[in-house]
Amino acid sequence: MRALVLEKKGELAIRDIQLDDRVGPEDVRIQIHTVGICGSDVHYYTHGRIGSYVVEAPMVLGHEAAGTIIEVGTDVTDLRIGDRVCMEPGVPNLASRASKLGKYNVDPAVRFWATPPIHGVLRPSVVHPAAFTFKLPDNVSFAEGAMVEPFAIGMQAAAQARIRPGDVAAVVGCGPIGIMAALAALAGGCAKVYISDVSAEKLAIAGSYDGIVPVNIRNESLASVVARETDGWGADVVFEASGNPKAFADLFAIVRPAGAVVLIGLPVEQVVFDVTGAIAKEARIETVFRYANVFDRALALIAAGKVDLKPLVTGTYSFEESIIAFERAASGRPTDVKLQILVEG
Ligand SMILES: [Zn+2]
Repeated sequence: MRALVLEKKGELAIRDIQLDDRVGPEDVRIQIHTVGICGSDVHYYTHGRIGSYVVEAPMVLGHEAAGTIIEVGTDVTDLRIGDRVCMEPGVPNLASRASKLGKYNVDPAVRFWATPPIHGVLRPSVVHPAAFTFKLPDNVSFAEGAMVEPFAIGMQAAAQARIRPGDVAAVVGCGPIGIMAALAALAGGCAKVYISDVSAEKLAIAGSYDGIVPVNIRNESLASVVARETDGWGADVVFEASGNPKAFADLFAIVRPAGAVVLIGLPVEQVVFDVTGAIAKEARIETVFRYANVFDRALALIAAGKVDLKPLVTGTYSFEESIIAFERAASGRPTDVKLQILVEG
């Protein structure tokens, strides 16, 4: 089948590739409609690796996808041919100890699309377990369906934070994941979410949502804005979504006593943070690795109109234009949040 293949670092090709895709009894075959370009796809393209994951053989990119079921396995009862769906790209071993804990995202055996050596979904069709395939409500488009994967990280972050109604949150970093965390925090009951960055363009996109207050740290630090707005008390929840080691310096100055700090961004190097400041507040530290058990909830929020991801799709390309789309994503326009590729259509 024709796919977008990362041949090696810096080299993409649209070409035929032989992919094993037999439909097992518990699988479905999905005709791919829309695929979002993720920062990780771009990073494999520009750097050939993410941490210990190294591209050592040609790999199909893409893991944020929605499409239509065209074949169902013999034991699949809850999905039918013609269903519009989105897919959770990580498939764990459901018999693993992590899965039994309900934390299947940290199963060491997870196979995740477009993470070497597993092929991604920028191709006409894919076979996937029905258990990780989710029907789109009628009022949710394919474009929104393909946004569920990045939004799921925000959902996981909000769940890890254990938000209570009326919480005030602060998000460090206004990239796609920071915005997703802010939207999930609002949907999860936060009264207000402050979000910080140095990019006025990115902050303007986030600030267009009711309840999200942009803070440009070129003018004033997030800690001082939050302190002023909360009478010196601090934010109930702080999400670190920048991965910038410098952000850790005053992370615990932002959170209120006994509040939560949720780490989402991945710093490339080890970071230094104020342990004493964290302990003095008895701050709770949580981490986010992908997501578990949130796709259905994300879809419910989108279908209910409580979360609108449509404004975040800032460019759509045909499959034949995939490489142009990747070049644009790699150029990192500050006005771009999510670029998508129409595989079918
Ligand atoms: Zn992604």
